[in-house]
Amino acid sequence: MSARDENLPGIVFRTHITVCPECRLHLNVHRTRRRTVKSVHGTFTAVHKLMKCKKHKRDSWIPSD
Ligand SMILES: [Zn+2]
Repeated sequence: MSARDENLPGIVFRTHITVCPECRLHLNVHRTRRRTVKSVHGTFTAVHKLMKCKKHKRDSWIPSD
């Protein structure tokens, strides 16, 4: 993380996977989840983008926590 990124009010977390592992369709943002995170640098908003393809209903990516 660079010093410039630490000044951003919100940090976006998203999967590196861009296609569905099952059908290979392009993934779209299904839902955005915001969460306040406290770190040694202060408080910031973590934005999780849940991805899914238009064929499968379940989330293709689950946040690690
Ligand atoms: Zn799929």
